[in-house]
Amino acid sequence: MADLTELGVAAIRDGVANGDFSAVEVAEAFNANVAAAGELNAFIVATPDAALDAAKATDAKRAKGEALGKMGGVPIGMKDLFATRGVQTSAASHILEGFTPEYESTVSQKLWDAGAGMLGKLNLDQFAMGSSNETSHFGNVVNPWKRNDGSDAALAPGGSSGGSSAAVAARLCPAATGTDTGGSIRQPAAFTGITGIKPTYGRCSRWGIVAFASSLDQAGPMARDVRDCTIMLEAMAGFDAKDSTSLELPVPDWEAGLSADMKGKRVGIPREYRMDGMDADVAKSWDDGIAWLKDAGAEIVEINLPHTKYALPAYYIIAPAEASSNLARYDGVRYGLRDLPEGAGLQDMYAATRAAGFGAEVKRRILIGTYVLSAGFYDAYYTQAQKVRTLISHDFKNAFNECDVILAPTCPSAAFALGEKTNDPLSMYLNDVFAVPASLAGLPAMSVPAGLNREGLPLGLQLIGKAFDEQGVLNAGLALEQAAGFSGKLEKWW
Ligand code: GLN
Repeated sequence: MADLTELGVAAIRDGVANGDFSAVEVAEAFNANVAAAGELNAFIVATPDAALDAAKATDAKRAKGEALGKMGGVPIGMKDLFATRGVQTSAASHILEGFTPEYESTVSQKLWDAGAGMLGKLNLDQFAMGSSNETSHFGNVVNPWKRNDGSDAALAPGGSSGGSSAAVAARLCPAATGTDTGGSIRQPAAFTGITGIKPTYGRCSRWGIVAFASSLDQAGPMARDVRDCTIMLEAMAGFDAKDSTSLELPVPDWEAGLSADMKGKRVGIPREYRMDGMDADVAKSWDDGIAWLKDAGAEIVEINLPHTKYALPAYYIIAPAEASSNLARYDGVRYGLRDLPEGAGLQDMYAATRAAGFGAEVKRRILIGTYVLSAGFYDAYYTQAQKVRTLISHDFKNAFNECDVILAPTCPSAAFALGEKTNDPLSMYLNDVFAVPASLAGLPAMSVPAGLNREGLPLGLQLIGKAFDEQGVLNAGLALEQAAGFSGKLEKWW
C-alpha cells in the first residue's frame, strides 16, 4: 500500500469512506511516524491509543453504514494549549506540568465529534508566547526543513504553534490545531511550508483553551493545503454559549464554496508593508503572488493601511496586559505546580510557585503587562494602545472599500536558526510585524506556501479578509496554491 502518511485530510477522509484503507491503518501509520521523530521534539505527549480508539470507532461506524463525519478517520495533532480530558495540558509550562483536565475544550470536542482522533499533544512556546518555540519548558521543536547550503543549522519551526507546524510538515500528522494571538498559526505555517488559517475572532470557541490574550486568541487549523484547512475549520468553528465572545453565526459550507477563480475580485496590496530593507526573496515572492492572483482573474489595487507601524507596539502592550491578568490564576492553589518552601506562608507560596513555574519570557510579559496596567501608566500605555487598535481596525475597514482581500508576506524572513534571536526579544517580536495587524482587527488571515527562498527554505504569503469572509480568504489562498505548485516535499533526516 502507498504510504498513508503522505495523504492529507481530504484524501484520508475520502479514502476511509470509500474503503480504500481503514482508519486503523491510517492511525497506525501516523503513530509510527510520531514514534520515530523524537529528534524533532514536536510532541510533548504522544497518545497512540487515543488515535487508535477513534480510528476503531470510525471503522465500526463504516461497517454499520453510518455517516463518518467531516473528519472521519483523520488523526490529528492537538496543540497543548487545548484542554483534553484525562491528558496532560501543560501550555508547555512547568507551572501546568501534570495538570490533567477534567474537561475537554469545545474545539477539540468538536473535532472528536467530527470523527478525528488524537495522535498527541503538540509542543509550543510557553503559554503561546513566542515566535520560535524556544520558550517551551519541554525544549524547542526543530524545523524539519534545512538550509541548502550544507550548514546543517537547526532551524526554528516558528511559534507559538511550532510543534503543530513541524509535525504537519514532517508528516507526523495530516493536520493539527493551532492558536493565533498575533501570528502563531501563520508564522509557523510559513516557516515550515504548510498552510494555516486564523479565522475571524469569535469563529472558534475559546472555551477550554489556555488563555493568553483573550481579546486576540483565536484557534484555527494547520494542514498541508487549503482544502484540508477548510475541512478542518468547518469542524472546529461554531457558536458556543460557553465563550462570551463566540460568534452567533452558522458555519458556512466553505468546502463546497472553494473556487480558485478570482474574476471580479480586487486584491489589495498595502503600501506600508513594503518596508525599507525588505528581504529580496520575500519581496520577490510577494510579487509572484500578485502576478498569480492577476492571472487567476483578480484586479490588483494599491491600498493604504496608514497605522501599520503602530500595530506591533500596540500589540506588545495589549497582549502582555491581558496575559498578566489571565496568568494571575496560576497561584499554586488551583492547577499543576505548588512550591511550598519550609515554613512558608500563603504569599511566599504564591511567589515561590510563580517564580519556579513560569519561564523567562512569560515573566517578561507579566512584568510588562503589570506595568502598562499600573495606575500611573495605564492611560499612557494601555488606553493609548486601545486607541491605536481602533485606528488599525478603521484602516482595514477603509481598505476593504477598495478591495476584497489583502495580499502581503506572512513574515519578513524565512525560518531563522535556533538561538539566533533568543537574546534579542525585540528582533524576535519584529518577526510578527505583518501578522499582528489582522489580529488586532480580529480579521481572518491565512498563510499559504509560496515557494522557496535562495536557501531552499519555504516562504509564506498572507491573505487577510473582511470579518466573516473566510471564504474569500480560502478562495484566494487556493488560487495562490494552484499557481505556486509548492510540493512541500522534504528530505527526511530525523
Ligand atoms: N509571536 C507572538 C507573541 O509572542 C504571537 C504569539 C501568538 O500568536 N500566540 O506574542
